[in-house]
Amino acid sequence: MMKTVNNINELPSPSFVCEEALLEKNLKLLSHVQKEADVTILLALKGFALQSTFELCGKYLQGCCASGLHEAILASKEFKKEVHTYSPAYKEEEIEQIVSLSNHIVFNSFNQLKQFKEKALGKASIGLRVNPEYSSVEVDLYNPCGAYSRLGITKKNFLEDKLDGVDGLHFHALCEQNVDALQGALKNFEEKFGKYLSSMKWVNFGGGHHITREDYDVKGLIDLLKDFKQRYPHLKVYLEPGEAVGWQTGYLVATVLDIVENGMKIAILDTSAEAHMPDTLAMPYRPDIRNSGLANEKKYRYRLGGNTCLAGDIIGDYSFDKPLKMGDKIVLEDMIHYTMVKTTTFNGIKLPSIVIKKDNSCYQIVKNFGYNNYEARL
Ligand SMILES: *Cc1c(COP(=O)(O)O)cnc(C)c1O
Repeated sequence: MMKTVNNINELPSPSFVCEEALLEKNLKLLSHVQKEADVTILLALKGFALQSTFELCGKYLQGCCASGLHEAILASKEFKKEVHTYSPAYKEEEIEQIVSLSNHIVFNSFNQLKQFKEKALGKASIGLRVNPEYSSVEVDLYNPCGAYSRLGITKKNFLEDKLDGVDGLHFHALCEQNVDALQGALKNFEEKFGKYLSSMKWVNFGGGHHITREDYDVKGLIDLLKDFKQRYPHLKVYLEPGEAVGWQTGYLVATVLDIVENGMKIAILDTSAEAHMPDTLAMPYRPDIRNSGLANEKKYRYRLGGNTCLAGDIIGDYSFDKPLKMGDKIVLEDMIHYTMVKTTTFNGIKLPSIVIKKDNSCYQIVKNFGYNNYEARL
């Protein structure tokens, strides 16, 4: 029997807590786009792979987009609907299993297509990832169309006489963006690759569509997709957001272990920016913390740091109405996407438990981690 508790103070610490109602709200919006625009939306496991929610996700989404063998296995075993796999490069020893699990397989180069086409034909529908060379993502780390990008075939390297057996084209050019960015990427895509679409069966617009963000122009997206479909009525259109599925669906709860002083007050938490929320350091960004203000907004100011030996394991500077004390809970907002898929056991630090909030008085603890998870990886 899965353990349940009825308030967040009783949860193991730290814990990722995904709220089912918030997730379902996102899924309903995505489902609305699918119906209105007649497109298929897949969940990108790279950003959100919380398998205990797959049954719920599967009610609204048609399947998963996988980045390679392990995600393809998880998708087919646990999500059980369509599996669309794209990897920058496949390995000989994995390709047969990947094509046997996948409905679509997308290759990143004509080399890869040549190497694996015979193995894929008749098993999975074959696509090619192209690079529309539309660069609108400001952070290089997350820009698939930046200078010297290895992701997708550029127009210059596109071999139009080698398209035999290719059913679809795929592009992924966005990150946390609105419809205007999709419009730009799509324009470039059509200018460069539009002439090949008549012989295709499908196109995949990748991820990075921040559809569930409050200011996202959902109607604009539906109009843009409808317009595209009117011009290419023979094509099936796929979108594969990851972040938009898990966006603002929950938090990371941690505990204050100690408060030290060195020019300012520094609270040490039982979590880690480096190990549990690596995007806070990689992007970087300052996560919101419940009931806190900017560094100088409220009366009591603290720097919040992680419980590893890395000097830079710092979440940021925050202020509170009341002084923090040992044992206090800290709730870091929006920590469901791109967190548990990226955690590490750096410093031997314990991985956060995984919790599903079913309703206001029922928190289901679905996973706890311990020493074995650390040892098993080394
Ligand atoms: C990362 C990625 C996605 C998902 O992107 P989000 O920003 O999480 O929506 C989809 N497709 C591909 C190929 C990706 O690399």
